[in-house]
Formats: sequence, structure tokens, C-alpha cells
Amino acid sequence: MASRAHPYTGRAIGLSTIHAKERALEPPFRRLLGAHVIVAPEVDTDALGTFSGEIPRPDALVETCFLKAELAFRTLDVDCAVASEGSYGPIARVPLVASGVEIMAFVDRRRGVRLIETLATERTNWRLHRFEAGDPAVRAAVRAMGFPRFGVFVISSTDPSRPIKDLTRMEDVVAAVDSEAGRSEEGQAIVIADMRAHRNPTRMQVLRALSWKLAKRLECLCPKCAAPGFGLSQSRRGLPCEACGMPTHWIDFEIDACTACGHAAVRPRKDGRRTAPTRACLACSSPRSGEVSPSSATEGS
Ligand SMILES: [Zn+2]
Ligand SMILES: [Zn+2]
Repeated sequence: MASRAHPYTGRAIGLSTIHAKERALEPPFRRLLGAHVIVAPEVDTDALGTFSGEIPRPDALVETCFLKAELAFRTLDVDCAVASEGSYGPIARVPLVASGVEIMAFVDRRRGVRLIETLATERTNWRLHRFEAGDPAVRAAVRAMGFPRFGVFVISSTDPSRPIKDLTRMEDVVAAVDSEAGRSEEGQAIVIADMRAHRNPTRMQVLRALSWKLAKRLECLCPKCAAPGFGLSQSRRGLPCEACGMPTHWIDFEIDACTACGHAAVRPRKDGRRTAPTRACLACSSPRSGEVSPSSATEGS
């Protein structure tokens, strides 16, 4: 327990959201930092990108997330702002299994702190179904997506520009499927899980976990400049093999850094290992023929 107050104690942190994400962020920011999360008024974060089924590139997601966080500075007189972005969809190599990644961007414009925290998850109700008008399977499929506790979007398969959102009754979903299938050149409507946080309890849970992760990182102050957010910036691989000393792909050490002043510190592995087992070593574990399989040894956690 620190005897001095955290720099964010009693401070307001701006949040750009129209999807009630303060429910996820508020508890850890209050409990770990003593800060209040304030929702920025009149931000149209949907203009930056919205869940519609396509999966943006990860770097685009990070960029959008920082832009979204900085939107809060337009309407709030705060030094710090936070925002989140998520991307969900099917895993290409595993059909029918959906997964996602949530990212959170934090900006302290006075101290120059810019942080990203991420959380990958397979906990999602993300689904996409196609239906023709009058399809009797709509109700069961929509119920299996968690409706009405979880929201759904209904979209014409050939005109995704006008998704029907905020449906609360099954009859309205069925009617929307019929009307959007009717509007579609292929005669099909798409029903897709609503991934907006306030209409998706699973996503809100993932955001809650990520909010704790971010707040814990912000709790750590830089030993040099005392800016919040000192923590893991990169991992270096190359832990030497216990038999031959060749570098392996196992993590050798980690580097903590401060995004405000650039101070960095090397941290050894938490488990205290100084060498990797021979099974992780390409030289020791590969067959005599010289055939090498880089994926044969994976690091356990
Ligand atoms: Zn070796
Ligand atoms: Zn620093």
C-alpha cells in the first residue's frame, strides 16, 4: 500500500462511449486509483467505426481507439481519457468458433502517457445467421444467441448500410427478418449478434476484466518520472537451451517501460528459469536428418 495518494486520486478520467462502458471502467478506476470516470457528452463514437461484421486490422483498431479516447478532450476539461474498441468474428482456422479481442487506449495528455491494454477472448456469443423470409428456424436461432438479454442486428444481405437495432421483442425480430430479406436482392436477411457493450453482457464482462488490467497498470508509477502506467512493453525471446546453450523461442526476459519519459527496466522471468528445456531447442530436439519443426515445442504458461 502506497502511503502517498496516486496522481489520479480525486481526478476525473474522460470516457468516450455511448454504450454504457462506464459500468465496466468505473469500479476498478475508483477502487485502485481513486479516480472518477466521466462519460464525455455528445460524442458520436459510432462515426469512428461500428460493429457490422467486418474485422478491422489490429493496427487500425489501436489507431481508432486512441482517436476515440481523445474525442473526450473536445467536450471535457480533463487531462486523461480512455476508450475501448473490440473486434469479434469467426476464427478463420476453426469454423463455427468465434473469438474476439478487446483493446483499451488510455491517454494522459499532460504527462504524455499513451497506453494500450488488450485482452483476447473466446468468450463471446458472436454469431451470424442467414434467413429467408418466413424461415421457421429464426426464433430458435435468435433465442440461442441469448435474445432478448443479448441484442441482435437484422441486416439485408445485399444492403448492410441500414441495420435494424434495438429490437426487444421476438415478433419484431421475425418481422425485421421478413422485411430485410424482402429488401435483399438475394432474398436473405442476416441476423448478427449485437456486440455493443450495453446490449451484450458477455462483452461487458470481458470489458470489466480489461478495465481491471488497465487500472492495475496505471496504479504502477514510473520509478524515474512517477507517471502512471509503468509496465510491460516487450518480451525478449531467446532463453538459452539447458544442454547446448543455443537461444530458444522461450521468453528470456521482459522489459517494463514508461511511455511518458521512456525509462525502461529489464525484468527476469517470473518463474526464475535461466534455461529452457531441450524440447524447446531446435538443435537438441530436431531429428538427425536436420528436419526442423519450429512448432514442435510450445511454451507452457
Ligand atoms: Zn539445445
Ligand atoms: Zn517515466
